[in-house]
Amino acid sequence: MKKNKIVVLGAGESGAGAAVLAKVKGFDVFVSDMSSIKDKYKKMLDEYAIAWEENKHTHECIMDADEVVKSPGIPDTAPLIVALKEKGTPIISEIEFAGRYTDARMICITGSNGKTTTTLLTYHILKSAGLKVGLAGNVGQSLAYQVAVSDNDYYVVELSSFQLDNMYDFKADIAVLLNITPDHLDRYDYKMENYIDSKFRITRNQTSEDAFVYWNDDPVINEKLRSLRLNSQVYPFSETPEPQSRAYTQDHKVVINTPNDVFTMDEDELALPGRHNLYNSLAAGISANLLHIEKEDIRRALSSFQAVEHRLEPVATVKGVRFINDSKATNVNSCWYALESMDTPVVLILGGKDKGNDYTEIEQLVHNKVKAIVCMGVDNTPLHAFFDGKVARIEDAGSMQEAVDKAYAMATAGDTVLLSPCCASFDLFKSYEDRGAQFKECVRNL
Ligand code: ADP
Repeated sequence: MKKNKIVVLGAGESGAGAAVLAKVKGFDVFVSDMSSIKDKYKKMLDEYAIAWEENKHTHECIMDADEVVKSPGIPDTAPLIVALKEKGTPIISEIEFAGRYTDARMICITGSNGKTTTTLLTYHILKSAGLKVGLAGNVGQSLAYQVAVSDNDYYVVELSSFQLDNMYDFKADIAVLLNITPDHLDRYDYKMENYIDSKFRITRNQTSEDAFVYWNDDPVINEKLRSLRLNSQVYPFSETPEPQSRAYTQDHKVVINTPNDVFTMDEDELALPGRHNLYNSLAAGISANLLHIEKEDIRRALSSFQAVEHRLEPVATVKGVRFINDSKATNVNSCWYALESMDTPVVLILGGKDKGNDYTEIEQLVHNKVKAIVCMGVDNTPLHAFFDGKVARIEDAGSMQEAVDKAYAMATAGDTVLLSPCCASFDLFKSYEDRGAQFKECVRNL
C-alpha cells in the first residue's frame, strides 16, 4: 500500500527528528530548508535515506504533501505556508507528529520565562529518581527523534508558543504554565490575547485525569482562567500560602501539597537562587510529586541541580567583584528577576536589539540596586532616553570587551557585574549563547 507523503519544512533539530520518525513509520518523506542545513542533520537524513534540499523550497516537491511538519521558526505569513493553507494541507508541529507514536507520559512546560530552567530541573528530578525519561522540545534531542529510536516512559518537553500553535490532538499529562508576559508579539498580530491563547493551548485535550500546574500570582493567567473551563485538575503555586495553592513557602520551608503526598524541605537547600527560581522549583516539585517520586529523591534533586548556562550563571569573582552571566535575559521581565535576586550593588550591562522594550518595570530595582549601567549595543538611544539621569553613571560600549572593561572599572570589591541585557543579541552577537560565552571569556581574561 502506498504510504502518504510527509513534507518537513526546516531541518534543524526538530525537523530532522520529525523526518526520521516519519521515515521509520513508513511515510514518503521530503525535507526542505530555505537556509543551509547543518552537516550533522544532513548526515542524519542521509543515514535514513531521506530526500532533502537546502537554500530553497521547490514547490512541486512540497505542494503534493498530505501533511506538513513545520519548524516553529517559520512564521504563518511565509508565502509557502500561505499557499499550503489555501490548499488545505494540514500543517502540524514536530511535537504533534511525535505525540501520535508514543504512549509515554508527557510533562510539558511553557511560559514566557523559565521554560528551559524548569524543564531541565524537572528532567533532573525524574532522571535521578531512576525513571526512563527523555528531555525534549527546545532543549536536548527532538521528541520525534527520541520516539523513533528509544522507548522512554516519560518525556519532559519544553514548549514555546510557536510549537503550541501547530498542536491539535496532542495532550500533556502534566501541563505547566509558568507565567505570561509580553513577548514575540510580532508573531501574534501585536495582540496580547493571541499570545495568551497560544500559551493556553498547553491545556488542550486535557481530561480530569490530567494536571494543570500554574503560577497563581500571575494576573494574566488568572484573568484568562476566569473565562475558561478546564477539565484538568489544577495545581497552582505561589510564593506564600494562598487558599488554592498546592505549593508555596512558609517559615522558610518549601511546601508541596498534592493529593499524593505532602512534601517539605528547607528553602535554603534549593540549588537555584532567586525568587523566579523558587517558582521554577515549585513547578518542578509539583510535577515530580504528581508522578509519585519519593520525597527524598525530590529533595536531593532540587538541592543538587547545577545552574543552567547563561541563566544567572556565576562566572567568577575578580578582586572582590562578582560577575554573573544572565545573557538569556532577552526581555525586561527576566532582567527584573535577575535584579530582584541581587543582594549587592550592581553594575548592569544592558542592551542589544530592543524589541520595543518598556523599562518602567525595572526602574525601581535599578534605582535601589544599580550604581552604574553599561549600554552595549549598536543603537543605545532607547536606553539613554530612559535611564539618563536615573543612575549615577552610564557609559556606552560597542563590544563585549569594552563593556566588561568599563563595568569592571566602575565596580568596587563587593559589587556584582550583571550581564542581563533585556534585549536580543543579534546586533553584536550571533546568539545569546555567543554573547554569554564572550562575556565569560572577557571576564576570565581580566
Ligand atoms: P526560557 O526558556 O523561557 O527563555 P530560561 O530558563 O532560559 O527561560 O530563562 C530565561 C531568563 O528568564 C533568564 O534570564 C532567567 O534568569 C529568567 N527566568 C527564569 N525563570 C523565570 C521565571 N519563572 N520568571 C521570570 N524570569 C525567569
